[in-house]
Amino acid sequence: MLRSARVAVIGAGAAGLAAARELRREGHAAVVFERAGDVGGTWIYEEAREGGHSSMYASLRTNLPREVMGFLDFPFVATPGSSSVDARRFPRHEEVLLYIQEFARRFDLYGLVRFRTEVTAVVETTSTRWLVRWSTTSTSGEQEQEEEEEEEFDAVVVCNGHYTEPRIADIPGVDSWPGKQMHSHSYRVPEPFRDEVVVIIGAKNSGGDISREIAGVAKEVPMVNRASPASTCERLPGYHNLWLRSMVERADPDGSVVFRDGSSVRAHVILHCTGYKYSFPFLLLQQQQQLLQLQVDDNRIHPLYKHVFVPQVAPNLAFIGLPFKVIPFPLVELQSCWVAAALSGRIRLPSEEEMMEEVGARYSELQAMGWPQRHTHCLKHNQFDYDDWLAEQCGHGGVEEWRKAMYDAASNKKVRCPETYREEWDDHHLLEQAYNDFQNYIN
Ligand code: FAD
Repeated sequence: MLRSARVAVIGAGAAGLAAARELRREGHAAVVFERAGDVGGTWIYEEAREGGHSSMYASLRTNLPREVMGFLDFPFVATPGSSSVDARRFPRHEEVLLYIQEFARRFDLYGLVRFRTEVTAVVETTSTRWLVRWSTTSTSGEQEQEEEEEEEFDAVVVCNGHYTEPRIADIPGVDSWPGKQMHSHSYRVPEPFRDEVVVIIGAKNSGGDISREIAGVAKEVPMVNRASPASTCERLPGYHNLWLRSMVERADPDGSVVFRDGSSVRAHVILHCTGYKYSFPFLLLQQQQQLLQLQVDDNRIHPLYKHVFVPQVAPNLAFIGLPFKVIPFPLVELQSCWVAAALSGRIRLPSEEEMMEEVGARYSELQAMGWPQRHTHCLKHNQFDYDDWLAEQCGHGGVEEWRKAMYDAASNKKVRCPETYREEWDDHHLLEQAYNDFQNYIN
């Protein structure tokens, strides 16, 4: 007989909503805790402020085509009569938020979410019971009131996202450098950088997009790529003031930022586009380390079986959405399916020892490939093997071949044509296959 569990889900972004849907489908009772006032997580645009905000900036457009991005059985299409605000293939962030909200409405998930409710502690009481403590904020008249409550659950599914805790590059001398440092997490619009010299650390998705936007108003924008040779000093085509440079060597008290080749620039701002760290402040890792044995070290969460389960307490503590360099929505859908089925007992997980062995084997494999520890959860080249593996576990159809090919085509185009990949494409045959497939889900 299948087990029905009472499950606390932390977060109502794409991952938390997918988890809630799959948990309910499998017969579990899910309660979703969300500290914001609506669903959508990262895709809720907010002004940068003290005390936490999302990482969206005003002009952000997706870096994946919408057909690729969407959930497997809920296509992300701009159908006539829908609430679409940006029908383009690479739409602005507002369109993604509407899509996630539509997903929550379509699958009747809003009723499962407790909004403005922040989980402050998750404590393991026994390996099958979890105490979840949370605080709610309510306003009565002029006054904000905060209340703390707690409740026991059979299982906890952590879907708190990993794009809010900035990682900052370590730059020797920066403490006595007089300029301003910030992280892309707090970047919103280019105007404050008018006529300034802005050193951008990082040349990946955010660094690439933000540097181009800032170059439209700034005096000079050196964009630093850690992997570039020391001598790199290359003006990017189409810009008079945007340069690709090697990594920064140090920052000096006179305002200079010095590159590896010894050249320097007097800069007003260092803008770190250096990614984010995993963070689970509510897991009380320090106090419970003996019990949980879960550590976050150099961005490796250890030990985690297949990026989801802590072997010692599986399946009752699970993480959804941790892998990066992936297509997130289909991946969280498949992970959620697996978690829900493992909790009900429809799928049997390997023993704790077997899971730990698999974790160890993966670390050895990564080490042999020269993969840094901080990339443990980076799937990049094998995300589709991972998706297929999850799909097989749950008896799910998995990720379509057109989606995989379209992802590869878009990723290659982004590298070759960073300026135009959102406007010009040549994957028309894949688009046709995608829309044929979508007919199964659009009524
Ligand atoms: P989030 O969306 O971060 O949701 C986590 C939720 O948990 C939030 O609502 C948060 O409020 C809540 N939460 C956290 N802690 C607590 C707590 N203690 N108690 C209660 N609630 C809590 N993906 C794409 O597919 N295409 C793109 O083009 C793309 N562009 C991106 C651009 C940027 C700048 C960023 C930052 C990300 C981008 N992503 C993109 C990835 C994006 O993060 C995923 O698409 C997806 O939104 C991740 O969903 P999530 O639910 O895992 O996390």
